[in-house]
Parts: sequence; C-alpha cells; structure tokens
Amino acid sequence: MNLSGQVVLVTGAGQGIGKACALAMAKAGADVAAVDINGESVKETASAIAGLGRRSLALRADLGSVAEIDRMVAEMIAVFGRIDTLVNNAGVTRRADIMDLTEEDWDRTHRVNAKGVFFCLQRAAREMIPRRSGRIINIASIAGKGYAGTSNAIYAASKGAVISLTKTAAQQLGPYNINVNAVCPGIVRTAMWREINRISAETEGRSPEEVEASKLETVPIRRANEPEDIADMVVFLASPNSRNVTGQAFNVDGGLVPH
Ligand code: NAD
Repeated sequence: MNLSGQVVLVTGAGQGIGKACALAMAKAGADVAAVDINGESVKETASAIAGLGRRSLALRADLGSVAEIDRMVAEMIAVFGRIDTLVNNAGVTRRADIMDLTEEDWDRTHRVNAKGVFFCLQRAAREMIPRRSGRIINIASIAGKGYAGTSNAIYAASKGAVISLTKTAAQQLGPYNINVNAVCPGIVRTAMWREINRISAETEGRSPEEVEASKLETVPIRRANEPEDIADMVVFLASPNSRNVTGQAFNVDGGLVPH
C-alpha cells in the first residue's frame, strides 16, 4: 500500500491504536499530523514519524471541544495546506455494568466518541470538499455491533453512533469523492484494554491474566489484535487500492462477532 504524497491527520495518536496508525501511515509514505489531549505522548509519536523520514506535526487538542477541533484543523492547514485522510481514532471508556453507569459516564463518553468524531469528520470534510478528494476512517468497535464483552452499554451506544454516522456521511460526501469507512476492532492490546481487564479482574476476583485467557477463548482465531493489526486495515482504507470502498464498517476481531 502506497500513501506517498498524502497528508494525514490521526487523532488519539499519543498511544495505542492511534500511534500505530500514525506510524504505519508514515511507513507507507504519508506526512502525518498527530493529535492527542496528551501533549507529551503525541510529541513522541511525531518524533518517531520524523525518524521515518516523513514530515510530522504534534498537536495538543481536547477533541470533545468543537473550538479545539477548529483550532487543530487550522494549525494542520497552516503547516500542510490540506487533509487527504482523517483517522478519527480518539476514544474513551471505562469497564462498568449497565446499572452502575451515570449521567457523567454518558456525557464524558459521548463527548469524545460521538460528538468529537462527528465534528472532526465535518471539519475535515470542509477542507476536502473543495478539492473533491478525501478519505475518512472512523475507529468504531465491535461494541457498536452488539459484542457481549463490551466495556459498557454507554460506550457500545457511542460506537453504534460512529457506525451509523459512517454510513450517512459516506452517502452525503460520496459525490465529493470522499470515502468514509469505519474499522471495528475486537480485542486490542493497548492501555485501554489493560485497564478494562484490570477492573474486570478486580470485580470477578480473578487475575488479569485469567480474565484475558478466558476472553481469548471466545475469539475464533484464538488471538488478540496488536495495534498494528488495526493500522494495516487503516492503511488499506487510505490507499488508492480502496478507491471504491465506502460506507462500510469492517471488523478486525479474529471472528468475535459474525456481522
Ligand atoms: P488508548 O486509551 O490506549 O488511547 C486513546 C488515545 O486517545 C490516548 O492517547 C488518549 O490520550 C487520546 N484521547 C482520549 N480522549 C481524548 C480527547 N478528548 N482528545 C484528544 N485525544 C484524546 O485507547 P486505544 O485502545 O488505542 O483505542 C483507540 C480507539 O480504538 C478508541 O476509539 C477505542 O474506543 C477503539 N477501540 C479500542 C479497542 C481495544 O481493545 N483497545 C477495541 C475496540 C475499539
């Protein structure tokens, strides 16, 4: 997959899946703006990209705020002049049962996972429409397709929102030659996953290793994803090879959910 000449914006790029996507895209030849609420970690991602010989930019922004999204896009445009691909990856959750969830959980989760994803998409599309070209890749989750092992119901609803938004945005932005797709990861070994496991282990009185082993038994292919497994799909969806693929939500989950 060749992304040379592309300018890419990756959100939540300070660690985990976002960082893996930023690095994989740089390896495929793209220049990358890496954004995160954690200004320190995103600087490390940007220097790793520069180490690969690509142009990079580290941006700190809280993507739950539309004003900060506007500032981030303006800073990116000032440096790179355009956005070819947006990887809408930043997200939050916490492990909790449905009856323990609060209004604060709803607001905190949907502020980033649904509102942030929508306004990043809309603001990036604003830059793409005049150029009649663009790719938008939203990182959803199999939680949005009914995965029984989801971290919580509010998170699942926020990822369902991302999948629906992807389909409607693909229809409405398609005439401008903008492809919009979602990737739905299953179990990915990141800080988010380790924290979910830690809480599950605490509540169930088991070790995190036991919890992980029992979760992996439910995966038909019997292994978890590394962040790079998600990045490989993202690189494909940003590449010329997927020019007629749009409005889809692809699982990368080892077969955990069958649809
Ligand atoms: P992570 O917690 O390791 O990384 C998330 C990154 O997003 C962090 O660097 C964090 O600082 C950043 N972020 C959080 N809130 C932000 C905000 N308001 N503004 C800007 N940046 C913010 O998580 P991860 O596992 O790499 O997950 C990345 C995405 O993949 C998320 O959308 C998550 O829901 C999704 N996902 C993860 C898994 C998994 O098993 N890890 C499974 C399915 C989907």
